[in-house]
Amino acid sequence: MKHKFLTITALFSLLLASCSDPETPDQTIDETTSDVDISAVVSSVYNLNNGVTVSVGSDVIVVTGTGLPDHKTPYWDIENKVHEMYEPFPSFYITNDIYTSDDDMESTILEGLKSTDSNGNSIITYENNMNSEMTVVDYRMEIPTTPVEATNKEETDLGIIGLALNGVPIYNNYEGRSVLGIVAMATFDAAGAHPGPGSDYHYHAAAQLGFDSTNDGSLYPTINDSNLIGFLRDGFPVYGRQDADGSYPDLDENGGHTGVTADFSEGIYHYHCSNENYLDSGWYVIKSGAYHGTPGTASGS
Ligand SMILES: [Zn+2]
Ligand SMILES: [Zn+2]
Repeated sequence: MKHKFLTITALFSLLLASCSDPETPDQTIDETTSDVDISAVVSSVYNLNNGVTVSVGSDVIVVTGTGLPDHKTPYWDIENKVHEMYEPFPSFYITNDIYTSDDDMESTILEGLKSTDSNGNSIITYENNMNSEMTVVDYRMEIPTTPVEATNKEETDLGIIGLALNGVPIYNNYEGRSVLGIVAMATFDAAGAHPGPGSDYHYHAAAQLGFDSTNDGSLYPTINDSNLIGFLRDGFPVYGRQDADGSYPDLDENGGHTGVTADFSEGIYHYHCSNENYLDSGWYVIKSGAYHGTPGTASGS
C-alpha cells in the first residue's frame, strides 16, 4: 500500500511540475547549499586495523591515529633493511637541470646526491637525512560533522593539517619554515613521506610510480588516481590528482572544487593533490594554500 501511495504522489508531483513550467529541469544542483554530513563516510573509510579510531559526536568527529603507515617504506628499517615492510628508497632520473638550487649549501648537498647509472643517465639518490626513524605519535584531530566554507580562509600551518586514512598525518608544502625544496624531497620515500625531527612520519606529496620498479605502490595513499587520501582539519576530504571519471579537474586557489566523488554521491567540496609537477621533481604536493573551511583542532605528541 505504501509503495502505491508513493507512486501516485510522485506521479502527481510530476504532473504539477510539467504543468507549471515545462522548462524547469527535474533536478537542480545548488552548489552553494551543499552542506554534507560526513560522519557516515568518515566512520567507514578510516583504517581501523592500522590503529585509527573514529568517534562521531553531534557536532564534531574525533579521529586518532598512530602515525605509522600500513605500507612499505625504507623508514621501517633504515639500519638493517630486514624488516618485512622495508623497501628501498626510490631512485629518480634527472631529465634536465631540475636539480639545481640557488642556495649554496643546498647546491653542495645536491652535488653529493647526484650520480650516473651504467647507461650514463643522471640519477639522484634518495636517502634519509638525520631523521631516520618512525615512532608512534598519538595524533588526535577534531573535524566538524558538517564542514562548511569559511568566510575568512585560514592558511595551513606547519605540522598536521589532516589525517590520511591510515592515521598518518598530512603536511603542507612547507618543510620547517621554508617551502619544500629538492634536498628535503630527496628524503622522501616512494610514498612521498618522511619522518620529521621527532621521528614523526608524514606525507607531503603524492607518490610518483616509475621511480623504481622495486617499490610496491599498491598501498600508498595515492599515485596517479582518484583515491580518497583522508580528511583535512576542516572536515573536507582530499583525493588524488584525478576525479572518479579519470579527469584532472580545474581547482580553485586552495586546491579544491565542488563536485560528486565516489564517497559523496550528492557532491561535496573536496581537495585534490595538485596536478602540477612540483619543481619538475616528479612529485605532486598534496595541499598548499588555505583551508576552505574552518580547521578543527589537531594535536600529536
Ligand atoms: Zn616534512
Ligand atoms: Zn574532484
